[in-house]
Amino acid sequence: MRVAIAGGGLAGLSTAKYLVDQGFQPLVLERRDVLGGKVAAWQDEDGDWYETGLHAFFKAYANMLQLFRELGIEDRLQWKDHALIFAMPNAPGTFSRYDFPKILPGPLDGIVAILGNNEMLTWEEKIKFGLGLIPAIIKGQEYVEAMDQYSWTEWLRKQGIPERVNQEVFIAMSKALNFIDPDEISATVVLTALNRFLREQKSSKIALLDGAPPERLLEPMIDYIEKRGGEIRTQKNVEEILLNEKGQVRGLRMSSGEVITSDLYVSAMPVDPLKLLVPEPWREMTYFQNLQHFEGVPVINIHLWFDQKFNTVDHLLFSRSDLLSVYADMSVACKGYEDPNKSMLELVFAPAKDWISRPDEEIIAATLKELEILFPDQLPHKAKLLKYHVVKTPRSVYKSVPGLEKYKPSQKSPIPNFFLAGDFTKQPYLASMEGAVLSGKLCAMEISRAFTAKTPVAHA
Ligand SMILES: Cc1cc2nc3c(=O)[nH]c(=O)nc-3n(C[C@H](O)[C@H](O)[C@H](O)COP(=O)(O)OP(=O)(O)OC[C@H]3O[C@@H](n4cnc5c(N)ncnc54)[C@H](O)[C@@H]3O)c2cc1C
Repeated sequence: MRVAIAGGGLAGLSTAKYLVDQGFQPLVLERRDVLGGKVAAWQDEDGDWYETGLHAFFKAYANMLQLFRELGIEDRLQWKDHALIFAMPNAPGTFSRYDFPKILPGPLDGIVAILGNNEMLTWEEKIKFGLGLIPAIIKGQEYVEAMDQYSWTEWLRKQGIPERVNQEVFIAMSKALNFIDPDEISATVVLTALNRFLREQKSSKIALLDGAPPERLLEPMIDYIEKRGGEIRTQKNVEEILLNEKGQVRGLRMSSGEVITSDLYVSAMPVDPLKLLVPEPWREMTYFQNLQHFEGVPVINIHLWFDQKFNTVDHLLFSRSDLLSVYADMSVACKGYEDPNKSMLELVFAPAKDWISRPDEEIIAATLKELEILFPDQLPHKAKLLKYHVVKTPRSVYKSVPGLEKYKPSQKSPIPNFFLAGDFTKQPYLASMEGAVLSGKLCAMEISRAFTAKTPVAHA
């Protein structure tokens, strides 16, 4: 049975991967000339890669890690020490670590990591934070989901947790999770992350891919799909979903005018373009109306090549800077980008709403100013910036504001031959690579459940 999938990001490719496993024939249609969507990357004239986003993988990503195993590429994840490391803006050039002891099971390892750090939170703040978290620990996911009515800041206040906890830890955390501040992000999103990261031992352990996603992750996915009868086409922009007289899909019209027909259809596009393509007769249905609540959040990814090596750490770091979120010196943290003499910093610039339409030069100047706090030994005078790349994504992952959880669409739609995948669809992870991969697997499960007997196994 043929399945046309609109969108060649991780969700679309994961759908295709799990469909070929079930004997279906997927055809992935990707609008751009590159696959990967938000993990897409490009090589410049010097052969250096620049990416849509600096991507961290976590031990909690059960489905992503299973995919790596299934593709035989687990060794491509470079696992870092089990620690969360924050820059200290008040002591430029220094860091504060939350180290998770190896010998303790989760959540004890997390509790010890939090209690063991005395540089960021006082004992009183840690105790108040711990007490505030008790309902989430006792009542579990049901409570976590009910908290979607509050922003993280509102939830902290409700629980009597001091504002300084936000300043010290959660501005950095919510920028890393969704590129927005704690006043905007839903409490459910942060509590879900804490829940996932504290529940099992090592689940917050971080890895970076050992090179550029197109070569190190997407190529093996493409090979796997194509070797098993699937097909992938780029520069196929789906412009219209065509309906038959029953209101079901009869084809996808490309912007070239070509119409692609199939037995089944999947949208693995981000929510913003999908909203525009919902056919008129479907717009009355609650399932499709709910999509209107979602909107992608702007973010900017920056790469800076310097003429010398910076004093840095082989890890993903929380910058705790006003304009920046997480960053890494990829010349030490990523094998494929290794350089013994020069540093390449990859940084996520967020929140980006006031910056997304500004010229690259202004963004770079503001970034360098922020970097003076992180690298006082090198900047502003000692190190020379050799070149940079700025990648802007005006609508990236959906903005996780309060009240959205209930509107997330299931992978099965009310239209029998139309399914959804994508990080915004219903799955217990956040808008993330794990969420995208899992959504594709769930989508393949729904298709397989409806049209065959055998289904893949997902880790919720
Ligand atoms: C800066 C940044 C940093 C990030 N950091 C992390 C991280 O550290 N860890 C993590 O887990 N996640 C991270 N993410 C999130 C992660 O990248 C996404 O959640 C995930 O890749 C989304 O996959 P997707 O397939 O759902 O969507 P997408 O990747 O957006 O894929 C959708 C695809 O559909 C295509 N498309 C759109 N319209 C059409 C059309 N009309 N016809 C055909 N194709 C179409 C698009 O071109 C795209 O290729 C980050 C994202 C960004 C932007």
